[in-house]
Amino acid sequence: MADMHGGFSASVNAMYDQAVALMDLSPGLAQKIRVCNATYTVRFGVRLRGAIHTFTGYRSVHSEHMEPVKGGIRYSLAVHQDEVEALAALMTYKCALVETPFGGSKGGLCIDPREWEPHELEQITRRFAYELIKRDMINPAQNVPAPDMGTGEREMAWISDQYQRMNTTDINGRACVTGKPPHAGGIAGRVEATGRGVQYALQEFFRHPDDIAKAGLSGTLDGKRVVVQGLGNVGWHAAQFLSTEDGCKIIAVIERDGAVQSDDGLDVEALRAHIQSTGGVKDFPGATYEADGSKLLEAECDILIPAALEGTIHEGNAARVQAPLIIEAANGPVTAEANAILLEKGTVIIPDLYANAGGVTVSYFEWVKNLSHIRFGRMQRRAEEARHHVLVNELERLSKNRDVAWTLSDDFKKNYLRGAGELELVRSGLDDTMRGAYQSMREVWHDRDDVHDLRTAGFIVAISRIAATYQAKGL
Ligand code: GLU
Repeated sequence: MADMHGGFSASVNAMYDQAVALMDLSPGLAQKIRVCNATYTVRFGVRLRGAIHTFTGYRSVHSEHMEPVKGGIRYSLAVHQDEVEALAALMTYKCALVETPFGGSKGGLCIDPREWEPHELEQITRRFAYELIKRDMINPAQNVPAPDMGTGEREMAWISDQYQRMNTTDINGRACVTGKPPHAGGIAGRVEATGRGVQYALQEFFRHPDDIAKAGLSGTLDGKRVVVQGLGNVGWHAAQFLSTEDGCKIIAVIERDGAVQSDDGLDVEALRAHIQSTGGVKDFPGATYEADGSKLLEAECDILIPAALEGTIHEGNAARVQAPLIIEAANGPVTAEANAILLEKGTVIIPDLYANAGGVTVSYFEWVKNLSHIRFGRMQRRAEEARHHVLVNELERLSKNRDVAWTLSDDFKKNYLRGAGELELVRSGLDDTMRGAYQSMREVWHDRDDVHDLRTAGFIVAISRIAATYQAKGL
């Protein structure tokens, strides 16, 4: 990884500035949108294993042009103020681009979650949540966290419960955090959402022959050779969906302990099980192992999916990256310097603020579900089925009176008659969001002679929307 310490915000800001330079925005407003509004740092002690341990946590609010503000909480030893602020800024632009009605925020706790037992992590999480809740930095109307690296459904359930213990009469308490497990107010499809969004983003890209050609590729996703960096929640779901549903071949996976590679394509599910049981990718049967995993970022392939940390493609390796198409499943995997090198080479980059927005999109659905206190589809599903039955019965009745009788196949009837449940509706909403956001970026990319890449186009769309909100507020 490149040295991003202190440089991640600078990198995001450099990309922001490049877009602003092409816009007609007053310098004052451009500056107001760019800056991070506030970052709260908290140090708290928890008595564990017979001693007091002090932890450092952050919650950064980048922009409150819409409230609540939204963004995950990361657990990692690499968490620091600049990282949290950069990630919060990306949340602002991401939410604007995919039209989720939130400002941008991000949190982090400097901790290695693997060092602690679940009951200890619960104590630490509840204490961190307590510190944020009492300052309204977790609140359904003001600031709604979600999972990020090192956190998941379990942590979100603890945070939600902690908020509800401290706000017993808040009927919307569950909406204080998203990414909760289904039995604690979560929504179907949230865990897979970011990876699913990456798949929908690629599917949308491959619907546009001009765009495919810009990357020097042709055809469909079927048979495309893909390298994935990071088999965590996002990388794993993306790789799994692309290989089992779209015919992609995952020819290499890069993980903490190295990389594995196979020209025939890796069985992602088996590889995930191997990582879970052995702790790494080494010795995965039928694949070649490479201890220096980052070398595989430079492998010859069709699509590169960085789905790990920020700054993995940097000034030092960008020139050697051969993939003609990069989709940023992680936040900030390509530094501003690397971005310039890659664009110069003609690499097409589907940028993070769009590519990984599936998570916050489905978080939005979960928040709406919590506020409406009813599962999506509960009222309509059976009514929809009943109406479909009426149509099918009528068609079958009519067919009996004809000379040439015909019947509807059982398969058709099964598919057509079934009303959509929550998971189906969530996927439909996510797919629609990813298609719509791509088209808004694409229009700018194609229509303007001075815009040469999707990232700048995405920033222009997002910044225009944020600027319009500020202007409507009279700023
Ligand atoms: N942590 C995720 C992200 O970076 C999800 C944020 C959310 O759902 O609020 O987009």
